[in-house]
Amino acid sequence: MIIKEIDVKGIMTKSNLPVADFSVNPYVGCAHACKYCYASFMKRFTNYSEPWGDFVDVKNWGILKNPSKYAGKEAFIGSVTDPYQPCEKKYERTRKLLKQLQGSGISISIATRSDLVLRDLDLIKTFPNARVAISINTIDENFKKEMDKGATIKRRLETMKQLYESGIKTTCFISPIFPGITDPEAIIEKAKDRCNLVWLENLNLRGDYRARIMDWIHNNHPELDELYYEIYSKKNRDYWNNLNEKLQKYAENNNMKYVRDDDTQMSEFGQLPIMVNYFYHEEVKKSAKKNKK
Ligand code: SF4
Repeated sequence: MIIKEIDVKGIMTKSNLPVADFSVNPYVGCAHACKYCYASFMKRFTNYSEPWGDFVDVKNWGILKNPSKYAGKEAFIGSVTDPYQPCEKKYERTRKLLKQLQGSGISISIATRSDLVLRDLDLIKTFPNARVAISINTIDENFKKEMDKGATIKRRLETMKQLYESGIKTTCFISPIFPGITDPEAIIEKAKDRCNLVWLENLNLRGDYRARIMDWIHNNHPELDELYYEIYSKKNRDYWNNLNEKLQKYAENNNMKYVRDDDTQMSEFGQLPIMVNYFYHEEVKKSAKKNKK
């Protein structure tokens, strides 16, 4: 594992994400090395020849001038890296960022696969509308170990519980859903007493990880070859449409609200988590943008 410190001019990057005004990544690269990492395209912007997951640049930035200018804005921490990956324990860049932003009036949203986020719970709690999403796409620890180097599923579920019980708006981010492998209902059953939102996102296969995932499926689940061929080569959406219907029924049977690609307001949160379907989210956003023009 290569870890280097790099100097950067600033840390707050204006975002065109629909969910945030700023996207903030205290590291470049990610030691969680998820086989399906959508952020692995970032490697292009580095000088590393090592595979994604084998290097991390630790950002050094200076003081944040006039942090109160961020009041009322929203920052998404961890759009292309995990802000609580193992080196955060030593380098504390995410912690530094939270300390710099504390009291500014900015809202924060954090996404992670690590229980290290609990270290900063007291700090996170001081932000208005603080939200933490914990990603879980299986309850099978062996499959998890094959796919990523984040915390165990057991620890992620415990982390969600502690966050939720501390009053943090907590999301169970079921992503990516592997056709024929991920069982979203089984995950929701384990998570529904400890989160406010359940986000559901399908596995997208593009870039250099497409071949890696297809090979893994072929070598480990040859019985799924045909299904993956249908979905990812023939672009057949039956699997996702059927899963959508199944989840709709699950939500009805469990008295949960199920919405599609919605910007759900926190004020709507009740006792039970709201399930949000983000299947083909990017296409929906793109076509919405086109229609606006
Ligand atoms: S934790 Fe997120 S950024 Fe890190 S490797 Fe996994 S998907 Fe990529």
